[in-house]
Amino acid sequence: MREIHHLIGGQAVAGTSGRTSPVFNPASGEQTGRLSLASAEEVDAAVASSQAAFEEWSNVSIARRTTLMFAFRNLVVDNAEEVARRLTAEHGKVHSDALGEVARAIDNIEFACGLAEHLKGSHNEAASTGIDVYTVRRPLGVVAGITPFNFPAMVPMWMAPNAIACGNTFVLKPSERDPSAPMFIVELFQEAGFPPGVLNLVNGDKVAVDRLLEHPDVKAASFVGSTPIARYVYATGTSHGKRVQALGGAKNHMVVLPDADIELAADSAVSAAYGSAGERCMAISVVAAVGEVADPLVEAIKLRMEKLVIGDGTDSASDMGPLITREHRDRVAGYIGSAAEQGATVVVDGRDIRFDNDGFFLGVSLLDNVTAEMDAYRDEIFGPVLSVVRCETYAEAVQLIADNPWGNGAAIFTRDGGAARQFQEDADAGMVGINVPIPVPVGYHSFGGWKDSLFGDTTMYGPEGIRFYTRPKVMTARWPDPATSTVDLGFPTNE
Ligand code: NAD
Repeated sequence: MREIHHLIGGQAVAGTSGRTSPVFNPASGEQTGRLSLASAEEVDAAVASSQAAFEEWSNVSIARRTTLMFAFRNLVVDNAEEVARRLTAEHGKVHSDALGEVARAIDNIEFACGLAEHLKGSHNEAASTGIDVYTVRRPLGVVAGITPFNFPAMVPMWMAPNAIACGNTFVLKPSERDPSAPMFIVELFQEAGFPPGVLNLVNGDKVAVDRLLEHPDVKAASFVGSTPIARYVYATGTSHGKRVQALGGAKNHMVVLPDADIELAADSAVSAAYGSAGERCMAISVVAAVGEVADPLVEAIKLRMEKLVIGDGTDSASDMGPLITREHRDRVAGYIGSAAEQGATVVVDGRDIRFDNDGFFLGVSLLDNVTAEMDAYRDEIFGPVLSVVRCETYAEAVQLIADNPWGNGAAIFTRDGGAARQFQEDADAGMVGINVPIPVPVGYHSFGGWKDSLFGDTTMYGPEGIRFYTRPKVMTARWPDPATSTVDLGFPTNE
């Protein structure tokens, strides 16, 4: 059994709390590791290490920080296969999805490499006679990052590179379910030559999170996870005077208008609903089918579902892997039954597929005639279940999105430019796709939803990330009148 500990001050540090959590290979159901869960004292040690590193790191030149960030970026590129292998081994996603995740992580590291540009500040000459005003952006101190299981390599890279590029030091608390990919990335970070303590990693659960949120030396926390925990993290962190950005769960709608390209819409719905077994915060979980598009669209989606191969993520034939745990798989399966009981039509039932091992597998499901009152619509399922809600009009589909408590992403499929443009305005969500089902912004824009998908003022990564990880300092400087200078500047005198 592999023992998984912490990485503090550039060293592997064995856990001492005596509390552990199992790590599984979800494709076989086997326990492959035992993770140490940090005590409050172990979190204190990680924060102390980051605090000690902060003074020096925050004064390292932009040139040096940039060189180190490029070196880190290159190491992640060179080791993308190994990061992806670890993702598949503990998360279960298929290799191509895992490589896609690493590419997104690299995208964010590359943005951080541009720190010279991001930290430029601003300057006004002669705000008043002889007075200049200028703003610089200074780091905060130690920043904590608390991340979910579904993107264990990418989400930490939404946070740590930008925070560190800005001159902060960082303590990462990854998900306890799949820690090996983030640990490997932190090792690569160390190998790139960053000073010890700039990026520490503690493994843990609520005990570690609570300590990070109340620790006086932690100045800010970035969180990504489910809505109840995001709400809790935001309330707890801010009550301790910290800056907090907490991204929560989602229920993303894809509106399909009657004029849409049905083939494109069906391909998109299938990849966006079932990719990574639906365990994506930007997964499409509801298709709002408007008018007569519903019948042909449901048929086109169903046809594609029959071709999906579900199996071990290490098998290149697999399109979709297992779910993260047995309990989560069973919970997701429960929604298929409850939807049927509440009046939905089960077009494809993922429970019908039998798998011949103990992996946490579930087939893909399609529910039609779902209504907003059903549990399958009201809850975030976070699995390979797609619901179709039939809407008579565009306005009804837009209202459905507006009435939903989440507002992460929303997409529209149409050939009509006017309708698409109107949807940009009407969609009550933070990220909008036009004939794009999963509109995750590139690293030089920022990511974040609205409503119960985000607690806090700033979204994550990109320019908003830089704003979150820095505080402005504004200088107002009065310069002596050059005519009174003690150095002879060659001005004519009155004599
Ligand atoms: P989760 O909320 O269970 O866990 C997230 C983190 O919080 C983990 O590090 C975990 O250890 C910690 N945690 C769990 N329970 C806690 C508690 N009681 N107190 C303090 N900390 C606690 O989420 P998950 O199951 O790992 O991830 C899936 C969820 O994350 C989904 O809801 C998904 O939509 C969401 N998510 C959102 C985004 C986004 O950008 N909005 C991105 C990815 C995932």
